[in-house]
Amino acid sequence: MEIGFIGLGNMGAPMAKNLADAGHQITGFDLDPAHAAAMQGVITVAAGLADAAQGRDVVITMLPNGAALHDVASDIIPLMSPSACFIDCSTVDIKTAKIVADMLETAALRGLDAPVSGGVGGATAGSLTFMVGGDEDTLALARPLFEIMGQRVIHCGDAGAGQAAKICNNMILGATMIVTCEAFALADQLGLDRHRLFDVVSTSSGSSWSMNSYCPAAGVGPPSPADNGYKAGFSTAMMVKDLALAQDAANMTGTDTRIGQLALQIYQQFAALADHADQDFSAILNDIKNPDQPA
Ligand code: NAD
Repeated sequence: MEIGFIGLGNMGAPMAKNLADAGHQITGFDLDPAHAAAMQGVITVAAGLADAAQGRDVVITMLPNGAALHDVASDIIPLMSPSACFIDCSTVDIKTAKIVADMLETAALRGLDAPVSGGVGGATAGSLTFMVGGDEDTLALARPLFEIMGQRVIHCGDAGAGQAAKICNNMILGATMIVTCEAFALADQLGLDRHRLFDVVSTSSGSSWSMNSYCPAAGVGPPSPADNGYKAGFSTAMMVKDLALAQDAANMTGTDTRIGQLALQIYQQFAALADHADQDFSAILNDIKNPDQPA
């Protein structure tokens, strides 16, 4: 297929590469010239946004937030071919996902919201989980692409349902990462070796993705951003965004999400410290750890 890929950051770059490696013709664009240049030779780098979208069978977006998605969608929908499909894989608010779905419907184009889980490791390995909102026929068309970039595809419902699932997932992730870091801080104070804590928790009822696959303590568990000086990965700023999206949705629906609210406050305070917003979200261990222990 001829695919336009817009947003070649931490996630978009490896996803676009996997599609190119599978034989698709990828024309990519990123606002940041350095991110686009890094993909030279892997995909075709577009001269501009329009070049990435015009005449493509599918356009995939992997953008930081709803405002960027809205801007890109407004610019490219009028340029897209009549039979083309627009797949947004970013994590954005449900309202923007539905607005973009309406814009596509008005233009008689197909579209899906298809946010992902699995992090940069999953994007690189082609093992992401896609949570999809939109109609069955459009999903059938897009499924072969999802199966290149990921291992699991879950049809969550109509437009916006993928984002609803993603927001719920990341509320769990944020809260779980914080309490995992609290457990390491407590273990330190109790004189319990961090490797032994990992060995127990990762095979016990306290296990989670935060502990088992993305351990926030350096040198413990499989490789993670903690082993790379907390270079994101999934940035603290992105986690603040997702926890705020969850709270917006909770407020909109009158849902009691006290732990999600507290997780948002803790991450907002952490992100406000100098140079912290760009660090991986697992760096919150440095804030929670006891002063006499290394991270
Ligand atoms: P990123 O900041 O590394 O990449 C986003 C890219 O979009 C950047 O390169 C930026 O220059 C580009 N961009 C911004 N506005 C643009 C525009 N108008 N036109 C073209 N390019 C534009 O972010 P990321 O970590 O790759 O995350 C992308 C999305 O995926 C986010 O919505 C995030 O919440 C979600 N996500 C990230 C992870 C993760 O582990 N990083 C995991 C799951 C989901």
